[in-house]
Amino acid sequence: MSEKFDLPFESNLIPKMLELGSLLKFRCHTGISCFNACCKKADITLTPYDIIRLKDRLGKSATEFLKDHTVPFRMDKEGLPGVKLKTDDQGACRFLCEAGCSVYTDRPTACRYYPLGHMSMLASGSKTDETHYFLVKEEHCKGHEEAQEQSVAEYLTDQQTAPYDEMNREWLQLMLKRRSMGPTVGRPPEATLQMFFMCSYDMDRFRRFVLSDSFKKTYELEESAYEVFEKEDLSLMQFGVRFMRQVFFGERTIQEKEGAWQERVSRRQDVWDARRQAEIARQQQEEDEKYKDL
Ligand code: SF4
Ligand code: SF4
Repeated sequence: MSEKFDLPFESNLIPKMLELGSLLKFRCHTGISCFNACCKKADITLTPYDIIRLKDRLGKSATEFLKDHTVPFRMDKEGLPGVKLKTDDQGACRFLCEAGCSVYTDRPTACRYYPLGHMSMLASGSKTDETHYFLVKEEHCKGHEEAQEQSVAEYLTDQQTAPYDEMNREWLQLMLKRRSMGPTVGRPPEATLQMFFMCSYDMDRFRRFVLSDSFKKTYELEESAYEVFEKEDLSLMQFGVRFMRQVFFGERTIQEKEGAWQERVSRRQDVWDARRQAEIARQQQEEDEKYKDL
């Protein structure tokens, strides 16, 4: 089941565009000869919402889920981090069991969409993105030989993609905006990439970051917002997108406290000074070592 979920920045396909009303001849069912063939070659990119659904299903923290069930990869040339579902040595999804998908009602977006891919596009000069769909036809998938015909919209309704689309939208738009800015923005610093990973995928670490004293000293948020972030993954996930828009594009939707920036710089200055002193001491020691036996 390769390239099931086509993130807007990584496709090298030139697909035939489909719209919601386009007809699709396809049916997947337990009696089909290829049953489970797709999940035996799984290449599933996860969205932040996919991770929340799956880690809740498995009763794990986000950090545990990421460690046990995913592998990291770079989603674009600038090194934006993504995560995929871990597979076994043969490439089969580890959620696959004899009866099919063991996490079916919480299966990721990519699995719901297959054999459709979707991508968002930002027409030049437009502020709103458009979603287009395309069909992925793979040799092993016999669902295309079935007689059933339905519209793309009907298929997606059947696969219950709506809550996933809603929860994925802002995160996908964030990346679409980055992509539409082209190479001019360049590769973000490593710390920014790590921040993106945390805000997108690891709600446990992001929660600790948001509830930390240093965050509260820096940003102007109501105490009630912190109470919500303490309890609700979905609100925290949405805040993560907002936070990354601020980091990537300088959108000031999260008010900074007055003087917070200067205070942070002066706190950092101490760290930089200490590092510089440590480096000077290390070089001095190296020089001393060179000459000690002369
Ligand atoms: S999560 Fe389920 S549907 Fe998706 S690849 Fe794995 S077994 Fe298949
Ligand atoms: S019809 Fe396609 S999607 Fe369904 S089980 Fe077979 S290979 Fe997978």
